[in-house]
Order: sequence, then structure tokens, then C-alpha cells
Amino acid sequence: MKLLWAPWRTKYVSNPDGEGCFLCQALQEKDGIKNFILYRGKYSFIIMNLFPYNSGHLMVAPLRHEGDFLKIREEELQEMMHLSQLSIKSLKGAYHPHAFNLGMNLGKAAGAGLVDHLHIHVLPRWEGDTNFLPVFSETKVIPEDIKESYLKIRKHLEILLKNPEK
Ligand SMILES: [Zn+2]
Repeated sequence: MKLLWAPWRTKYVSNPDGEGCFLCQALQEKDGIKNFILYRGKYSFIIMNLFPYNSGHLMVAPLRHEGDFLKIREEELQEMMHLSQLSIKSLKGAYHPHAFNLGMNLGKAAGAGLVDHLHIHVLPRWEGDTNFLPVFSETKVIPEDIKESYLKIRKHLEILLKNPEK
């Protein structure tokens, strides 16, 4: 079985600039190109993964700083699933990927880089993209600038929010 979320890159994710939780830090700023939050709901939000595996790698997380999946509340679960769908719809519009990975790493041994703040990975996949997996290298060239990705996905997300039927 292949590892889903590139745990060899964990050290970058668990050591963001400064101390504390980078998701909570992002939530303290105004949503936009600076904090990379794409959408903020009542209980949860969508943010770009700053250490992406692929262009368009998103994360859906509760607003509350909670790492234990079993402590995530009903309303949070519900909205996080809804935002996962919204993420996939936006990514389809922006990138037309062939497939998606959707999932969580619960705990460090499972590959979670940030263990105290639960997050669902939403990852667009293309046939053949695993061919370029740098298993022995810790860097990967992301074919698109993260700001460009943000603007592109945000554009599609806004279209969806205006036309929920799409
Ligand atoms: Zn947090």
C-alpha cells in the first residue's frame, strides 16, 4: 500500500514558523491570499495546504483547536463533510483532476504532521502523477505557485457559492 500523505515531509509541517498551531494562526487573520483560507463556515474552514503534495492540495478543519476525531461535534462533522464536497467541486472546476484522495491521518504514527488540530486532506490526483513521487527527496517541484492556485480555486468556489445547484 502506498503512503497517502507524504509523511516524509512531516518535519516541515510540524515546524511551521514560530510556535503554536498554524491553522489557528491562519484563523486569526483576514481570509485571503495571506492566510490562504478559501472558505470559512460556521464550524469549519477550507485552507490551502502550504506544504502541498500536488497543486490544489486543500485541507478542511474545524474552527476549534481539537485533534481528537472522537471529540469532533456533530455539527462540525456535518459541515466538514459539506466543505469537503465543496472543495472537490471547486477543484474539479479549477483543475479537472482524474481522481481525489480524501482522508485524515489520526496521530503521528499515521503520518499526521499536525496532531492537535484535526484536518481532512483533499488532494486532486492525475493518472501518472505518482510517477514523479520523490520518495528519496524531501523536496518536490510544485508545478504551480500556491498563490496562483489559491486564486484559481477561490474563483471556482465563488461561482459555486453563487450557484449552489452546480
Ligand atoms: Zn489549532
